[in-house]
Amino acid sequence: MATVTYDNASRIYPGGDRPAVNELNLEIGDGEFLVLVGPSGCGKSTSLRMLAGLEDVDRGRILIEGKDVTNLPPKSRDIAMVFQNYALYPHMSVYENMAFALKLRKTPKPEIDRRVKEAAQLLQLDEYLSRKPKALSGGQRQRVAMGRAIVREPQVFLMDEPLSNLDAKLRVQTRSQIATLQAKLGITTVYVTHDQVEAMTMGHRVAVLLDGELQQCDTPRALYDNP
Ligand code: ADP
Ligand code: ADP
Repeated sequence: MATVTYDNASRIYPGGDRPAVNELNLEIGDGEFLVLVGPSGCGKSTSLRMLAGLEDVDRGRILIEGKDVTNLPPKSRDIAMVFQNYALYPHMSVYENMAFALKLRKTPKPEIDRRVKEAAQLLQLDEYLSRKPKALSGGQRQRVAMGRAIVREPQVFLMDEPLSNLDAKLRVQTRSQIATLQAKLGITTVYVTHDQVEAMTMGHRVAVLLDGELQQCDTPRALYDNP
């Protein structure tokens, strides 16, 4: 767990006529679930990718737990990310998919086993550990993608439109599963969506972006009372 600080962070793409993200200032608390919301092209993914180290920060800084990570490569940041198009390894079982990153890091086998089984239980995947991804439903696959991220026990968890490939009913179910999981783990989370209902039902606080500018950031209750 950790705090995250965007300190005047800007991203100007080469050839862009204006910043994709302009002087973003945002403090995310330890264990907080922050949702970044706004229409397509407003700079949500760019903001998330700057935090993950996948996108340059052209001006300003990004801090994790007070430490300046602006120029650190993604690998040196203790962050796990789940995308919209999470690609599971098709030839590996659910267990192997979740264990893979830990194996690469030479985590001891009993420790891998403990973490994978704990994550599988939290995500209600215990019964599916031996299955290959193609034998799972869309929602189950999405949960495996989350499992792969949380077994790493990162300081910060990032999700970029993780539900957009699911049908409406599953989206609503998975929303509450993610919120419950986040609350149980207490992990600092930044969640990107263009869906206002998703933002208002999931976030402890909601940050609204428009044309690369932060418009407001407050609790859903306060945003609801003061739109
Ligand atoms: P989303 O809005 O869901 O984040 P987009 O459809 O805007 O995704 O973009 C898909 C991919 O294309 C992303 O990797 C993004 O960085 C890239 N991209 C978006 N806009 C441009 C652009 N104008 N020039 C080059 N790449 C872009
Ligand atoms: P969102 O995630 O809110 O849809 P993005 O962060 O993907 O927004 O994009 C913000 C702006 O930056 C958009 O105008 C988009 O076209 C532009 N953009 C995104 N990725 C690239 C890229 N790789 N190259 C150039 N422009 C980009």
